[in-house]
Amino acid sequence: MVAILAGGALLTWQAYRYFKDARQKTTFVSNVSHELKTPLTSIRMYAELLSEGRVPSEDKQNRYLGVIVAESQRLARLVDNVLDFSRLEQGRKSYRSENLDLSDFLSEAIASQQPRINAAGIKVHYHVPESALFVRADRDALRQVLLNLIDNALKYAADGKELVFEFRKHRSAVEMTVGDRGSGIPAEHREKIIDKFHRIDDSLTAQQPGSGLGLSIARRLLRDMGGNLYWRPRKGGGSCFIVELPLATDD
Ligand code: ADP
Repeated sequence: MVAILAGGALLTWQAYRYFKDARQKTTFVSNVSHELKTPLTSIRMYAELLSEGRVPSEDKQNRYLGVIVAESQRLARLVDNVLDFSRLEQGRKSYRSENLDLSDFLSEAIASQQPRINAAGIKVHYHVPESALFVRADRDALRQVLLNLIDNALKYAADGKELVFEFRKHRSAVEMTVGDRGSGIPAEHREKIIDKFHRIDDSLTAQQPGSGLGLSIARRLLRDMGGNLYWRPRKGGGSCFIVELPLATDD
């Protein structure tokens, strides 16, 4: 009797897992397609207008070219995330860690995203620590982490108008806190928000397109480099994403 009941429970649990996985995959594929389609549609529209010579004003031509560049960069970021996700899932991701000055690295990453940050009306504040903060990390992976966090602040917390970076040095690690003044994460989502595919609004009609990969990739990359990623509510409202990285080694 016990064996039959246990077997039944196991089968029910497996069926539940199977349907949950299948549903997550379908939602993921539709979300990624939707996310690819939006920038592709605007690239095509502006490129067609320009190639048909229907934009006489030089000012407008430059603006449309700017949109094409920005949208293709957005496509590239999405494809990078999907490629990274599959490499991580298959255990094929490799890292070349080196000693990096975190505040220098952050300044470069912010500078490369400045036009988007300005366009969202966000002011960035960061207090550069007095002594250089050297961490041990892979350049590309750390860049991907920062881009995903900045991207999210622009997508979900632009109303808050600010993005604050703070650093704290511990015995063997450096903590970088990325704080925004968005609406934060509702209590029922906090535990799962960094898990893959998890989105607060995962419908196709969500205000912001997304695939629920950004934070989970960031955490996987950081953990592989000996660090981690956490979320905490920010005092006074908003979110804090805490990036932990190991201190540089003497080599
Ligand atoms: P995506 O942005 O593709 O949905 P992420 O893994 O980057 O995937 O983020 C997961 C979810 O976490 C988002 O869908 C959003 O609901 C929420 N989120 C992420 N960053 C923030 C933020 N700074 N403020 C509020 N919500 C956020």
